Amino acid sequence: MTVPGAHELVLDRRVTAPLRYRLSVPRPESHLVEVELRVAPPPDAPLRLEMPAWCPGSYLIRDYARHVRDLEARDVESGRALPARQVSKREWEVDAAGGGDVAVRYRVYGHELTVRTNHVDAGHAFLHGPALYLFPGDARDAACEVEIEPPPGWPVVTALEPAGAGRYRADDVDQLLDCPIHIGPVELRELEAGGRPVALAVWGGFAPSASFGLDALTRDLAAVVDAHAARLGPLPCDRYTFLLMLSPGAYGGLEHASSSANLNHPHAFASARSYYELIELLSHELFHVWNGKRLRPRVFDRFDYGRENYTRCLWMVEGVTSYYDRWTARRAGVVPLNHYLSKLAEEWGRLLAIPGRLRHSLEDASFNAWVKLYKPDESNLNTTVSYYLKGGLVMCALDLELRRRSDGEVDLDRVLVHMWREFGAAGRGYPEDLQPIFEQATGLDLGDFFARFIRGREDPDLPGALATVGLELRPGWERPGQEDSAPPPAWLGVTMQGSGRTVGGVLDGGPAERGGLSPGDEIIALDRYQVGGEGDLRQRLAGRAAGQPVELTLFRRGRLEVCEVVPEPAPPTRIEVVASAAAGAGEHQRFADWLGAPHPGEGVVATAPVPGTL
Ligand SMILES: [Zn+2]
Repeated sequence: MTVPGAHELVLDRRVTAPLRYRLSVPRPESHLVEVELRVAPPPDAPLRLEMPAWCPGSYLIRDYARHVRDLEARDVESGRALPARQVSKREWEVDAAGGGDVAVRYRVYGHELTVRTNHVDAGHAFLHGPALYLFPGDARDAACEVEIEPPPGWPVVTALEPAGAGRYRADDVDQLLDCPIHIGPVELRELEAGGRPVALAVWGGFAPSASFGLDALTRDLAAVVDAHAARLGPLPCDRYTFLLMLSPGAYGGLEHASSSANLNHPHAFASARSYYELIELLSHELFHVWNGKRLRPRVFDRFDYGRENYTRCLWMVEGVTSYYDRWTARRAGVVPLNHYLSKLAEEWGRLLAIPGRLRHSLEDASFNAWVKLYKPDESNLNTTVSYYLKGGLVMCALDLELRRRSDGEVDLDRVLVHMWREFGAAGRGYPEDLQPIFEQATGLDLGDFFARFIRGREDPDLPGALATVGLELRPGWERPGQEDSAPPPAWLGVTMQGSGRTVGGVLDGGPAERGGLSPGDEIIALDRYQVGGEGDLRQRLAGRAAGQPVELTLFRRGRLEVCEVVPEPAPPTRIEVVASAAAGAGEHQRFADWLGAPHPGEGVVATAPVPGTL
């Protein structure tokens, strides 16, 4: 403890509540939000304001303060300008000690349409709290009031608590940051599900199909919310808001404690597959109100908004949620059996195509999210694995293993219910080592499982797990233009950039790596005949035999080069899920318990293409 001496100054930095914000977008086409914060300054220290460098749920330092401009401060009563200066890339100081209320005004530029950035244009304003609000760092617990002045005719959708016309409130700064605001025309549907009022607000034009539209989505969403709530109880918030923004090429979601922001493309309703994927996205973000926002690693009990917050448990936050999003929609009868199994097989194929899964465990991948998953480059596929993808598959395998080992008595739900009671509902984060908690919940020894699949780098035994429910995974190959009996296509071990002819990534240990290919190489000819693009190259390789060298002519940094590559047989490009005719009553019962439908008997139940490598 330090005892201040006579020459040391002890400053009282406490800021008096509440924090009062006013938001407006007078000229949306300028992509600017006008923000005013009114606050009583500390008695004898400068008013220090900060903006988060990142946002919970998306693990990347984004330096949101780079979009702040034109900051000025005034004494509210006298209108006198107060000296304000920037003291770090995300902090400002205002000389206002001991004075009356201070008004700090600034503008925020926002023209990036994602769920974790601001987007303001002539069509709407999507405001993301961490990228919008400056707040006194020592006033995190202060109540917040927000007044919103929307352009004429633009409704406001937000999970902030209404507090009169155009006014809203939040209990504290964390809640303020966690409530995005949408200002602009939306189609609004209101439903009752999960024991609470639920709103669905859809912005952006979309093309309904014969089968799917907003009515179907509203109905299906209610069933999915109810199915989640049947597991862990009514929604743990007074009301819940789904914001869905539709824009070409857009995809993603971000969870909040009583809402979610979701992005999808305008053709989401055009096919059954894209519609079910939309349902899965919304189901995923909704499930986070339990798993992620409230049931969370201890390090997330109080975020440090200024720096990385490390945890080895993002597989629990995202892997478990990735398993439950589609599975719950399946159990609710919204997603059909063949779609569910086809996506499961597709994910299995995608996992096996990633050499990085042998370098990073789920714990390693979680810990490195800040510099790997959220900072992707062409080396990622060789160095890490997605804790969403592998985490979801590991949780599926665990669920089936628990059911088999306990004769159907114990499943993964048991773990979630236990953890919800012990941690989520109790408002405290869980420790980094989850093995004892999983074992306590299930009464089973899971040492081997955690050592191999959570802390270790082994692939989950999905084929073995599916065998316990009478299913087989049968690999196959697409052979463009060839007989079905032809051997597997020749394979280089690369990914391509889109449909072009530029190499995206080179897989560790594959033929292309041995032949000296690099990411960025533009392949212009195979055995001296011109290559048009990715599809062309794939077709040509399908007619070649593994083991026979091919000559690749390419441009590298503008210079013509030639590489000789000896292709290998391609890994499967298709996986079929087959109902095993040999399955007995036990497998049939487990299948029905797991997927809520009778075992299909025999034959191919679903087929999945394995995207990716060439
Ligand atoms: Zn998630």
